[in-house]
Amino acid sequence: MKCPFCGSLEDQVLDSRPVEDTSAIRRRRECLECKKRYTTFERPEDVALTVVKSDNRREPFDRQKIWAGVDRACRKRPIAAETIDKMASSIENELMDEYVMEIPSNIIGQKILNKLYDVDLVAYIRFASVYRKFSDIDDFTDELKKLKKEHLKSQKKTAKTKTL
Ligand SMILES: [Zn+2]
Repeated sequence: MKCPFCGSLEDQVLDSRPVEDTSAIRRRRECLECKKRYTTFERPEDVALTVVKSDNRREPFDRQKIWAGVDRACRKRPIAAETIDKMASSIENELMDEYVMEIPSNIIGQKILNKLYDVDLVAYIRFASVYRKFSDIDDFTDELKKLKKEHLKSQKKTAKTKTL
């Protein structure tokens, strides 16, 4: 770790403890050069994961962006802030489980779509229209038709189970 006071890379860890409810670790360190003490928060995913965009540009993984995407799609919908947090965390956890170094950005978009689909169709359509960049109104109506069909199918399924 680079000392924030003198820039030395030589330090000693005095204490390490996990930060509650996250994968982060808080470390108390002492610089061996200037003897000053400082604290670091280390999150393994921050250093490990890179997002690869469709044009091959790379950027560090940022969980805040997932949260912001979900939150934007759910704006003014009857969805609890807690539900939005849960969706964002479970997307992040899935990504951490499935990817080690690089995540294609379209996978993140797809995961957000899947979660929104289960929670709120309006939010889903909103996110899809931005994410998939529906090129014209026909694309959009196609998506709506598809949703309607799937919705009817699931309604029929529930109706059937009820009569059984
Ligand atoms: Zn120092």
